Amino acid sequence: MLTIGLTGGIGSGKSTVSKFLAELGAPVIDADKVGHAIYQPDGPAYQEMIDAFGRDILAPDGAIDRKKLGPIVFGDPAALKRLNAIVHPKMFARMREMVAAMRAQGERKPIVIEAAILIEANWQPLFDEIWLVIASKERVIERVERDRGMKPEQTEARIRAQLSDNDRRRHASLVVTNDGTLEELRARVGEIWQGAMRRNLA
Ligand code: ADP
Repeated sequence: MLTIGLTGGIGSGKSTVSKFLAELGAPVIDADKVGHAIYQPDGPAYQEMIDAFGRDILAPDGAIDRKKLGPIVFGDPAALKRLNAIVHPKMFARMREMVAAMRAQGERKPIVIEAAILIEANWQPLFDEIWLVIASKERVIERVERDRGMKPEQTEARIRAQLSDNDRRRHASLVVTNDGTLEELRARVGEIWQGAMRRNLA
């Protein structure tokens, strides 16, 4: 049974593809939410994070405040590396446990994990297939400005800071090009889900 990783750059359309897949009945895990859970006081990264970055990263309720981590690692590659070295392997372990638990409970469909940082975090070994969503820079800038109010320069800076689509492609088993309409994307997602269901049983 297949475990599929869904990735892509900012504004490429990953979350939209996830949403369409979920509508088709796909079990979808959001890696971002997994990241959130491991920062909780009862989560596996909590103490190590405090040891590495101090108690200033805590919100009044004692949880790690992700907004406070930004300024600490921003512009400090060594700190970012330390953060990722704590968090990424724990997220990987947690996602693997989640997939195993879903299988143990009888889930037989392909399981999809949406993870923007899949390749950067070296999570490829968790997946049988990696699906990459891409869109042209112009489309991304236009959509992200329209829907999130981000300025084109901001979006361009984010794109520059991320892995390039060329680098991502080297890891992808399937590429979804999202330069058309939402309905075109929906149709394409329907096709690739059907394909995944077929390969899942093969
Ligand atoms: P990501 O999760 O990769 O950052 P999203 O799925 O959130 O990207 O898409 C970015 C924005 O663009 C969202 O507001 C989404 O509704 C919109 N969007 C995605 N695909 C299309 C499309 N084909 N046509 C129009 N808008 C789109």
